[in-house]
Order: sequence, then structure tokens, then C-alpha cells
Amino acid sequence: MTGMFGKVKPCAECNLVLLGAMGCGKSALTVKFLTKRFISEYDPYLEDIYSSDELVDQQPVTVRVMDTCDQEGPVNCERYLSWANAFLVVYSINDMESFKDCQLYLQTLSMHKNTFRSQTPIILVGNKLDMDRYRHVSQSDGEAVAIRFDCSFFEVSACWDFLSVQYIFHEAVRRAKRG
Ligand code: GDP
Ligand code: MG
Repeated sequence: MTGMFGKVKPCAECNLVLLGAMGCGKSALTVKFLTKRFISEYDPYLEDIYSSDELVDQQPVTVRVMDTCDQEGPVNCERYLSWANAFLVVYSINDMESFKDCQLYLQTLSMHKNTFRSQTPIILVGNKLDMDRYRHVSQSDGEAVAIRFDCSFFEVSACWDFLSVQYIFHEAVRRAKRG
């Protein structure tokens, strides 16, 4: 398409999927990204897809976020494997079980690499950074797993500033575009 401003790009779209143990803060991160607010009590069994028109590096993009809820861990992953343009695999830094669970997700994703585009980027997110006093998963443990599974890695808190939460979602979009 060309117009008076030259080439007009079609509106880009990007599908993000949040994975991780129940209680690690997937919904809190999603709600923060979408509304800039921290909602402390969110229906733990709700799984949904939300849409937001974003500007990422001055480029408009419709970001869809699938906030998953798996009560059984990484089973029935067909619904998101081929849909996703990027994955955010979340654990809570004060919960070692959630860190183990996120490694199950990472293993599942690497097993299914042929089902989805193998370039689909994965971002490992250590959430609840405000709970640093009760930390059970060190930053270097997170980094080591990220290196092992070839993901990028960030630690955030869904109850701190909006911009650092927005950053990881936008980073997922950037990496998906590159992929
Ligand atoms: P989900 O099951 O992964 O969707 O987890 P939720 O988003 O429902 O969060 C589970 C619990 O952790 C809720 O009580 C949240 O208020 C709390 N929570 C989520 N994110 C944070 C965070 O960054 N810091 C703290 N302190 N609590 C959080
Ligand atoms: Mg949830």
C-alpha cells in the first residue's frame, strides 16, 4: 500500500501467552499491563484473551494477551502453541515450586518446538520482586535457566511501577517481530 506518506504498513498484531503455576501473578501482570493498576484479588480460575492497541517503538500494534490458567500444569497446550507469537513464562521469586513448574513449561515448549514457529521467543519472568525479603529463587538461578532454555530474563513486580511491567510485554512484542 502506498499513500501520501509513502509506504503504509498494515496494522501489526502480536499474540502473547502467559504461562506458569497458579498464583505466580500472571493475571496481576496482565491486569497491570492493561490498566496500569494492581488488582490483588483476581479470579484464580479465569482464563481469557485480552486485546490492547499499543505503540511499541512508535509502531502501532494490536497486542493480544492470553492469561492462561492451568490447574494441572503444562497439559492441553494445543490452545496456545500455534497461536502464540511470544511466550512469557512466569514464576514467583518467593516460591520455589513455581520456579520448578516454569521449568516444566519451558521443557514442554522446547518439546513442541516443531508445532509452533521455532523462532517464537520466550521470556522468563521472575515476578513478586517486592517480596525480595522472602526470596527463594536467586537471580542467578533464574539467569541459569534462561540461558539453558535460550530465553531472555527479567525480574519484576506486578505491584510496583507500571513501566517495568509494560517493558516486558513490549519486549516480547519486539522479539516476536524479530523472530
Ligand atoms: P495467577 O494464578 O498466576 O494468575 O496469579 P494472580 O495474578 O491471581 O496472583 C496470585 C496472588 O499473588 C494474588 O494474591 C496476587 O495479589 C499476588 N501477586 C501477584 N503479583 C504479585 C506481586 O508482584 N507481588 C506481590 N506481593 N503479590 C503479587
Ligand atoms: Mg490467573
